[in-house]
Amino acid sequence: MNKAIYIDRDGTLVEDPNYYVYKLEDFGLLPGVVKGLKVLSKEFIFIIITNQSGIGRGVHTLKDTEKFNEKLINELKKEDIEIKKIYICPHAPEDNCDCRKPSIKFIKEAEKEFDIDLKKSWVIGDKPIDVKMGEKSECKTIYALTGHGKEYFKDLEKSNLNPDFVAEDFLKAAKFIINNIK
Ligand SMILES: [Mg+2]
Ligand SMILES: [Zn+2]
Repeated sequence: MNKAIYIDRDGTLVEDPNYYVYKLEDFGLLPGVVKGLKVLSKEFIFIIITNQSGIGRGVHTLKDTEKFNEKLINELKKEDIEIKKIYICPHAPEDNCDCRKPSIKFIKEAEKEFDIDLKKSWVIGDKPIDVKMGEKSECKTIYALTGHGKEYFKDLEKSNLNPDFVAEDFLKAAKFIINNIK
């Protein structure tokens, strides 16, 4: 079985200055991401799960998101890092779909498709919904203070969510995971 890191995209891997990330010229990997992924790649496969409500709200198209994802995959490939798959929820919250995080639908789909052991897998994200998705699926969780992480930290504290670690950046998250593999 494989161990996976389920990673949020915006604010965790790439810069998310405003809430809709889709323009190629806005693409930027966050500090520590390449190093952190390299540290983890010896033990884990990588899956990205991203809520893209900008599609449902008509801010941008699915095609924009797919092009942006292609850029992300290619930039990481240059560093010898492989992303197995990117799962996109294209819906707005009011669509009441079954795939928007904190739904664990994509976690379960990937579990089947890539033979993943969820108990030995992790979720990393910069919003409480990422932690919630991880806890619901028995993965271990890391809350990242990058992206919108600082902004939502008080919501995390007020919630009953309990991430295994709160990380300053992606590299610190990666090092914590490597030091806590059982
Ligand atoms: Mg995010
Ligand atoms: Zn959805």
